[in-house]
Amino acid sequence: MSQLAERVKNIKPSPTLAIEAKAKKMKAEGVDVVGFGAGEPDFDTPENIKEAGIRAIREGHTKYTAVPGTDELKDAVIAKFKRDNGLDYKRSEIIVSCGAKHSLYNIAQVLFQGGDDVLIPAPYWVSYPDQVILNDANPVIVPTREENNFLLTPELLAKAITPRTKAVVINSPSNPTGSGYSRAALEKIAAVAVERDLIVISDEIYEKLVYDDFTHLSIASLGDEIKSRTIVVNGVSKAYAMTGWRIGYAAGPENIISAMSKVQSQSTSNPSSVAQKATVEALNGPQDFIPGMIAEFSRRRKYMVERLNAIPGITCRMPVGAFYAFPSVSALFGKKVGERVINNSGDLAAYLLEDSKVALVSGDAFGAEGYVRLSYATSMENIKKGLDRIEEAVSRLA
Ligand SMILES: *Cc1c(COP(=O)(O)O)cnc(C)c1O
Repeated sequence: MSQLAERVKNIKPSPTLAIEAKAKKMKAEGVDVVGFGAGEPDFDTPENIKEAGIRAIREGHTKYTAVPGTDELKDAVIAKFKRDNGLDYKRSEIIVSCGAKHSLYNIAQVLFQGGDDVLIPAPYWVSYPDQVILNDANPVIVPTREENNFLLTPELLAKAITPRTKAVVINSPSNPTGSGYSRAALEKIAAVAVERDLIVISDEIYEKLVYDDFTHLSIASLGDEIKSRTIVVNGVSKAYAMTGWRIGYAAGPENIISAMSKVQSQSTSNPSSVAQKATVEALNGPQDFIPGMIAEFSRRRKYMVERLNAIPGITCRMPVGAFYAFPSVSALFGKKVGERVINNSGDLAAYLLEDSKVALVSGDAFGAEGYVRLSYATSMENIKKGLDRIEEAVSRLA
């Protein structure tokens, strides 16, 4: 059928959500699948936050709110930016949306149009290119190198800029690589962005999930010049295990935020009033849930990376943030098992799922053929079981 608009034909459904759905379906059919596809914490939302949501319903906070979020929540977001990032914003520079993904989509809607190029370092989070395409602009993928921890360098950035370039997307800590930018690295990128008049979209959703001695820094905090051209995106999904509540937010120049609010007023209106109340509690309430989650993620991370590196043909860097391992698997390409030849990451992912019932995401979904992504947002027991299976399956390749 040809009723569909052109722009829809040019995008694909989120591949990470698709693999999760496939694993869930297999599980429901009674197949013993180990899922490494998860893009969300396996922890439950903390009790105090759930209670705040329940209280919000009881107290009648069940009606429309202001489109860009309540003043109470905006103030909690403002306090968070001050406390965690040393950033000062006014209410008019904050918008609350239905998840960070929605904030990012609003940004794409108000900034991009036909003829615009948007620089996206690869490996990238799956939605960035498609959100650009949905707004008639052109995603320009900038490949990074594993040797450089998959980070965008000022040289790569400068080389990719043309007169059509409007913005660059930075994601630190990164999904899928688990890498994060140091202050020095961000300073150099900020200098290029200022000099070449680029808008920076900084996705900081994994800010709280950092390990060892890595500290997160917001590029917007490096000075007024870079702040005035950066939109910071964050949310509660990852830090507070609140993916289903659908609350994210963005901070940036007033004219951009107010345009986003206008778009939001004609699309979703306000994000859920109940979830907004729960988010006030998440941001203003006790933060003691987070260190325990970090400690558990860190333990799993080390175990997973160690096990992966012990498998001949697989190498994996130690991530400093988020909850993903992103090993290189290209040394396995060309190997066979029976009739099956593993020629790329997708072949390996299909082999592991069909043969060994392990779900992971092929690197090409993130613009990085030669790699696969495994989430460690699943129990240690599952991680052990899944890695045993991967080890066994790879050992049968010859
Ligand atoms: C999970 C994720 C998001 C979206 O989070 P929501 O607030 O749940 O929409 C955005 N960016 C990255 C890199 C993510 O991994």
